[in-house]
Amino acid sequence: MSVRKILQRGDPVLSKTAHPVTEFNARLHNLLDDLRDTLAKADGVGLAAPQIGILRRVALVIDTLDDNKPIELVNPRVVAFSGAEEGTEGCLSVPGLFGYVTRPTEVTVEAQDRYGTPFTITRTGLTARCFCHEIEHLDGHLFVEHTDKLYTGEELDEMEKEKKKGKKGRK
Ligand code: ZN
Repeated sequence: MSVRKILQRGDPVLSKTAHPVTEFNARLHNLLDDLRDTLAKADGVGLAAPQIGILRRVALVIDTLDDNKPIELVNPRVVAFSGAEEGTEGCLSVPGLFGYVTRPTEVTVEAQDRYGTPFTITRTGLTARCFCHEIEHLDGHLFVEHTDKLYTGEELDEMEKEKKKGKKGRK
């Protein structure tokens, strides 16, 4: 288990399609453990294997609706979704920049666990957003493709304050 380097936007690996996992062996378990350590160190809510340079369909999402338990997703795919909500989004591969992205309100994902056992999970809000974000990483896409404008954390705080004041806010 170790903390791995997180690749940054512009790295060609981040725009490649990851390969399905076919062997649920120690190597996969090491990858999942490394994702967990790396995510904990970076204090994020999700991380996909390509972000640490491994082109496999593996991701980790922190379940903010269930005691921040990490959800290990192997070969995940979105099988159902409903609703739409706009929210701010960031990425450990795009540090310090955030954007407004519209995602489904509720998302159902089918995946396998580290032993190959299939499971289905449905989540809303931030965790649903995170499922979409991480699965996109497995297809070589970053959240920045969904928005025209990126903001720094400071700019974002400022805008949220303006919104609360009842002013016009963004756009
Ligand atoms: Zn990301």
